[in-house]
This record gives sequence, C-alpha cells and structure tokens, in this order.
Amino acid sequence: MTGKTHVMGGIAATVVTVHFTSYEPGLIIAAGAVGSIIPDICHSGSKIGRKFPVISKMVNRLFGHRTFTHSLLFLVLVGYVLTLFTNDQSIIIGILIGMASHLLLDAVTKNGIKLLYPANLTFRFPFTMKTGGSLEKVVLLLLTIVTIYYGKDLIL
Ligand SMILES: [Zn+2]
Repeated sequence: MTGKTHVMGGIAATVVTVHFTSYEPGLIIAAGAVGSIIPDICHSGSKIGRKFPVISKMVNRLFGHRTFTHSLLFLVLVGYVLTLFTNDQSIIIGILIGMASHLLLDAVTKNGIKLLYPANLTFRFPFTMKTGGSLEKVVLLLLTIVTIYYGKDLIL
C-alpha cells in the first residue's frame, strides 16, 4: 500500500477507536497517523524512509523489506520503547493501532508480511491487490468514508 493509504488507515482505525473509547481524540488520531507509517522505515523510498534515510538504509540492510518492521515482535518492541518515554495511553495506543493498521493493509498486498518474524512465514489475505493499483484507490475511499462516518461526532 502507498503511504497515503496507510496514513488514512491509521486515521480511520483511531477515529473508530475514539468512537468506542474515551481516549483523547486529537492525540490518539495524530499518533495513529504517525504509527501508520513507522513500519515502512524498512523502505528508503517510503514517507518515513525519506525522512530518516540513514536509519532506513540500516534497517533495510539488516532485515530487508516487510520483515521485522512488519511483525508482532516489532509491534511489542515499539510498545515497550514508548512506555519508556511517555505514559500517555492515547499516544501509545494510537501509535500501536496505526502500526497494526499498516500490517493489516500490507497483508492485503501480494507480497504479504512476515507477521511472525523471525519465522519466515508470509501472511496475506486470500484476496490481494497491487500497491498503487485501482483497487487500492477503492480501499482509500472506503477508509475515508469510515473516517467521516465515525469522525463526524468529533466535529459536530
Ligand atoms: Zn509496509
């Protein structure tokens, strides 16, 4: 999936979360948007990879694309590291939800993800699509609709 779709996925997932919980909306949604692009640090051409080229190249050389940073292990590690810097649940939960939405969306692409890294198992949904293809535009549209539907209470 492209960065745009991931960011929308992170926003949609956290907007839905806000609807059903009492987390601070502004914080958790912003955290969700940030979290949604973190896994692609393994890819130097991604939004976050272009911001941190050195880290991105290092991660890519060490692990390759869509392996470690697209795994449950990485999710747990980031969650742990976040608790060292903040105890604001809205930020921690938001980033983790954004990251989880990223993994979910990448699991709908042909290459899938290595969810159980270091185990070399590829996870993907039975139906997949091409990154940047027309089906992804439909996904982006659906995520936008979900965001507006659940987000309207935040504005009105
Ligand atoms: Zn990815």
